[in-house]
Amino acid sequence: MANEKMIALGENRSVIRDLFEYGLSRKKIVGEENVFDFSIGNPSIPAPKKVNDTLIHLLETEESTALHGYSSAPGDMRVRTVIAENINRRFGRNQAPSDIYMTCGAAASLTISLHALLHEGDEVIVFAPFFPEYKVFIEKAGGKLVTVGAREEDFGPDLEGFKAALSEKTAAVIINSPNNPSGAVISHEDMKKLTDILKDAEKRFGKDLFIIADEPYRELVYGDTEVPYIMNYYENTLVCYSYSKSLSLPGERIGYVTVCHEAKDRDKVFAAICGAGRALGFVCAPVLFQKLLITCHDQVADVSAYAKNRDLLFGGLSELGFECVHPDGAFYLFVKAPGGDDAAFGELAKQFDLLLVPSASFGLKGYMRVAYCVSEDTIRRSMPAFKKLAEACGISPKA
Ligand code: PLP
Repeated sequence: MANEKMIALGENRSVIRDLFEYGLSRKKIVGEENVFDFSIGNPSIPAPKKVNDTLIHLLETEESTALHGYSSAPGDMRVRTVIAENINRRFGRNQAPSDIYMTCGAAASLTISLHALLHEGDEVIVFAPFFPEYKVFIEKAGGKLVTVGAREEDFGPDLEGFKAALSEKTAAVIINSPNNPSGAVISHEDMKKLTDILKDAEKRFGKDLFIIADEPYRELVYGDTEVPYIMNYYENTLVCYSYSKSLSLPGERIGYVTVCHEAKDRDKVFAAICGAGRALGFVCAPVLFQKLLITCHDQVADVSAYAKNRDLLFGGLSELGFECVHPDGAFYLFVKAPGGDDAAFGELAKQFDLLLVPSASFGLKGYMRVAYCVSEDTIRRSMPAFKKLAEACGISPKA
């Protein structure tokens, strides 16, 4: 008999995946254009032109066995070098190529980081609402997820709750800014307070505490929003970065994890990253895409379409009377479920072929996540359905 825990994980798809599959079957019945699928975070903006041009160039000019051959386990030194230089240029850091470990995206970066840091029974603090896979990743690494809430007014971190949640068993804190699912970005002031609390806890408990910064949405910010670079506040930091959203390449599985050069016992921590990568079978990230990054590491997909979608959806739903968190980044709108029951509201929305993700699976009840990485046309055409939904749950348009 196979491992029961794994059977359970495999048999119970995530709520998001379930909804996505439901959407596919529903589209076959009522037609593609009549289902408004806001369930999944698949980028709708094409990768920058330079990405495809570079891939074609690599395929046409590089010798096949070298192009597709293994790189060293942590990645090609040239790509690790340009990434370290990119971080240092943008954030004034001192990262070395040997601080970078190439991965199959942020998910792999997170599992590697957690396996590298945790001992059986260690606690990992996560701010709700959070990416549901954190629980799976933490538990697989032998840890226990401890949830801290967000401030209701702006979805910044609940700092008092954070202080209370820290204990001798804490090993790490995961920070995800811009956040999936709320779109909130942690401000400089909050980052400073949060890291001061953590430094104080390190002294109190006499041990190193790590921040794992989950940053697949770093480049997806709107207006003049700035995303603080956590290493500039706290040295025991591991950054889990991904090109899934910034380059619109989620299916290609490419990203990295980097240990802050000034982290305590940096060499040992990086060795543990390499060890965890080895133990999990995450060595030699996709080489074609590693080589692509040598040229394209500083490219970003044109996120202006997401900014437009955000304004359309936030404006449209607010006008209908829905209460929404104003997102500064990522591509999700977090909407209060009228009546407070997100599961029931999600089912009601389905009656109008609106696929919205109930927030319970993000560790916080009472909201819906609306992924606006869809076409502008989908948003415009969905508005009558949202209007019917508003009427069905008895909320009235703003005067
Ligand atoms: N972390 C968060 C917050 C995410 O939203 C996602 C994907 O949607 C991931 C990690 C995983 O990203 P990747 O595709 O780079 O593995």
